Amino acid sequence: MSNLGARLVVPIDVKKKPKEQKVPLHNRWHPAIPPVAEVRTGELFRVEMVDFSGGGITKEYTAQDIKFQDPSIVHYLSGPIRVVDAEGNPAKPGDLLAVEICNLGPLPGDEWGYTAIFDRENGGGFLTDHFPGAAKAIWYFEGIYAYSPHIPGVRFPGLTHPGIVGTAPSMELLNIWNERERQVEETGLHTFKLCEVLHSRPLANLPSTKGCVLGKIKEGSGEWERIAREAARTIPGRENGGNCDIKNLSRGSKVYLPVFVEGANLSTGDMHFSQGDGEVAFCGAIEMSGFLELKCEIIRDGMSKYLTPMGPTRLHVNPIFEIGPVEPRFSEWLVFEGISVDESGRQHYLDASVAYKRAVLNAIDYLSRFGYSKQQIYLLLSCCPCEGRISGIVDAPNAVATLAIPIAIFDQDIRPKTTGVPTGPRLVRNGGLPQCSYDGNLPITKNPSATT
Ligand code: ZN
Repeated sequence: MSNLGARLVVPIDVKKKPKEQKVPLHNRWHPAIPPVAEVRTGELFRVEMVDFSGGGITKEYTAQDIKFQDPSIVHYLSGPIRVVDAEGNPAKPGDLLAVEICNLGPLPGDEWGYTAIFDRENGGGFLTDHFPGAAKAIWYFEGIYAYSPHIPGVRFPGLTHPGIVGTAPSMELLNIWNERERQVEETGLHTFKLCEVLHSRPLANLPSTKGCVLGKIKEGSGEWERIAREAARTIPGRENGGNCDIKNLSRGSKVYLPVFVEGANLSTGDMHFSQGDGEVAFCGAIEMSGFLELKCEIIRDGMSKYLTPMGPTRLHVNPIFEIGPVEPRFSEWLVFEGISVDESGRQHYLDASVAYKRAVLNAIDYLSRFGYSKQQIYLLLSCCPCEGRISGIVDAPNAVATLAIPIAIFDQDIRPKTTGVPTGPRLVRNGGLPQCSYDGNLPITKNPSATT
């Protein structure tokens, strides 16, 4: 007879700080971070997690915590979890680890979340040149639904998912990451031809001992110092999966992660109640604490069987995943287009980031006519289940990106009509969004529409 229920391997007490949790958390990638638990293939196990900020961002109606959020602590992860097969043999480098998400959700008693815009001086977001100040919306959950007193008139079912699922890198892979990301920092924009609209955002996030938490390794020890100086930040997604922020990794989905160290050392965190494609505001999903119930399989030598490395080493691979069978159903969408011509009218060559930015800006401008401020819509498009696509990437010189918004999330009809946009006092919905003024020194891209 099989056991009922999932075995809890990482418990979380949301009343406690990240460093006080019973099973220690970590917020960096490094092969020397020791596993905190071991699971067998086929076993159903439960992993609980704090929100990415470890409770630093609160349910208070203020954006002060966003404005001064410490970026060095991002993201608190649960794990690493060592995976062994039925005979007790660990996953080995070169295997694929199949991780099935059997169930997930908010932690009972903690059914709320937040979506925020970081201050431009503190990480910013995709549209930081238009929205430089910090702002926050709190969301409450009613079962599968989310609503916010700060963005009235919308309610939607969450496609809940972990923003981060990943395996530990080997030392060889970690060195590759650190080397290539250091090059981005050092040689900068001209070499990499990053688009101008993103100038004011960090180029990369290199290892830093500040804020570093390494699980069972005691802070301040010599070992901690050495590892903290090498350990990769969790911000970008990489070969090991990591912070891919894929909204469809929900109930019933399965991720096939490359294994780089013995035991695979699986970690997860950054739970999202809901997120729009691109998570444009950057603090941008409905961030929350939560739980996952997982089941693992090991596909022996799966990397060589299924993945062809693209790069100088066999480690240059990326995960594969399957979408689960449970997703919100929307039948009507309003879709906004963007092309790779920026807000100054300048042409970019097949640049999907510029095209996506224009699609999002077009959607914000349009939806703000329905009684909302532009900040409210920026927050909403970051966290509601909207779908981003690269629609065309070959028709030179313009990439075409689209952003599809489910019409049913609004309590009013947002389609264009012959009668025009409805007006009236009922539509003034931009009252109480908690926000801080921007008082940094960087010049703001000239855009009169950004000041609502
Ligand atoms: Zn997140």
